[in-house]
Amino acid sequence: MNLLIIRLIIFAVLFFAGLKLYRMYREWKLEREEWLEKDATHNEGGHMVRCTYCNVHLPESDALREHGEWFCSSAHRDKYLEERKEQG
Ligand SMILES: [Zn+2]
Repeated sequence: MNLLIIRLIIFAVLFFAGLKLYRMYREWKLEREEWLEKDATHNEGGHMVRCTYCNVHLPESDALREHGEWFCSSAHRDKYLEERKEQG
């Protein structure tokens, strides 16, 4: 009877230790992924794209994407789409 209780206690301790280790690992992995993501965007300084309307270059994060084309602003996007519509 005593042996069974000891086994249960050992099992419980191992279970909680494993759970704690798993949580620590998961947190470490998340932090690492966030850090890597931040580092990647920082190093690249943002991918540069060209405005289809005025040909100005700007970082992808500041650009607008519409129908597979890049634009520096919503005004140029609207103008380009309007002109394309008029052309047929
Ligand atoms: Zn533009």
